[in-house]
Formats: sequence, structure tokens, C-alpha cells
Amino acid sequence: MGRILVVEDESAIAELVAINLRHAGHEVTVASDAAQAQLEVDAVLPDLVVLDWMLPGQSGLALARQWRATARTKTMPVIMLTARSEESDMIAGLDAGADDYVAKPFSTQELMARIRAVLRRKAPESLDTPVELGELHLDPATRRVTRRIGEVHHEMRIGPTEFRLLHFLMTHPERVHSRAQLLDRVWGDHVFIEERTVDVHVKRLRDALAAVHCAHLVQTVRGAGYRITDKAGVVSA
Ligand code: CA
Repeated sequence: MGRILVVEDESAIAELVAINLRHAGHEVTVASDAAQAQLEVDAVLPDLVVLDWMLPGQSGLALARQWRATARTKTMPVIMLTARSEESDMIAGLDAGADDYVAKPFSTQELMARIRAVLRRKAPESLDTPVELGELHLDPATRRVTRRIGEVHHEMRIGPTEFRLLHFLMTHPERVHSRAQLLDRVWGDHVFIEERTVDVHVKRLRDALAAVHCAHLVQTVRGAGYRITDKAGVVSA
């Protein structure tokens, strides 16, 4: 799952794509033109953009080129959508820096498969593999976090940001992560977010973990940042 920006001026198509992506567990934002898309990207760097070629004003193709030429958006995955199915158009789309290209009319299943493939390529550490740390079990596919003691499973209530934070910490245990590193890895980009945002979400994460008696797993390392560990006997600051 990831944060996906859908840039499409035809609201019926945008809505259809958004519904399917949300159903697959993604967080979805929709923009109807290039200017709005740029505002969304400036605010939060998405994990992937579904970008329509034909937009009112600046075209999707021009926007993709612009993103490729900008350091911050250079590697942001882009899948172009278009009604133009000529091979030369496809080549132009890929030349502009699109990672993939889907011609309209498309089946949503095909688009979802292409999105999965691009996300997999960009994130080889498989986002869907369940992770365990001590008694804590996190399943990205179902977005469930449970404390498992034998056959007894206590499910944790957790917000989307805390879930991403916990997922990152659990896949990188024992190491100390600075606030800046966490912003980079969990929020994707920290240009517009203050470091104390991390503290707010770590507190919320600890509160969520406390409900299943696991708050001690997340430790504050004074002057350095945070880490997750299941090594017993250390009390978090
Ligand atoms: Ca369009």
C-alpha cells in the first residue's frame, strides 16, 4: 500500500480509479489538473502518480517531464493514462519519464496490476510481507497489528501514519533513527514538515501500543532519535 495521487480531469474515471486504489488499501488523493497536482506533490511526495496525458491547461506529458527534471520528484513513480494508443505516443510518454503507460479504455484490473508492479519495482523490500517483533505482529496487507500470545490475539487500534511509522520501525529494528531519517522514510519527504511532528506521532504510536501493553518496545534515545526493540529490561524514556 502507499500514497497515490490520481491526476485526471474526467471525474468518473478519477473516482473509479480512486475507489479501486482505496479498496486495495492505498491512500488516494485526486487532482483534476496539472496545477492542483503540483500543489499536492509539493505538500506530500506520493509513492506513485497515476497521470492522465490530456488535462486542461498543462498536459500530463509536460508535467511528467517537469517532474523528471526536478530533484525532489526525479524518482517519483508515474504511470501515464491516455486515450492515445499510437505507439509513438507511448514512446513519447515513456521518454517523458513515465514508468509505465496504460491506454484508455483500460480495465481497472490491468491498471491495478501495473501499479502493483511499479510499486514493487520501486520498493523491493516488499510492502506486503507481514513483520514480527517479539509478540507484535503487523500485516501490511490487512493493515492489522496484533499482539500474539500463543493463540490469543489482541488487535491494536492504530492510525494510518502511526501504522506506517510502526511498519518502518519493525522492518528496521534495533537501529536508532533520527527524526529527520524518520521523516524521510515514513513521511517520504520532510521539506514541509517539522521534526516535532515525529514526536507527536511517536507519542500516539506509544499510546496505541500501550493498549496492548507494548509501549515499551518504542524507545527514545536521548539526543539521537527513536528505535524499536524487543530486548527485555529496557524502559523507554
Ligand atoms: Ca483527460
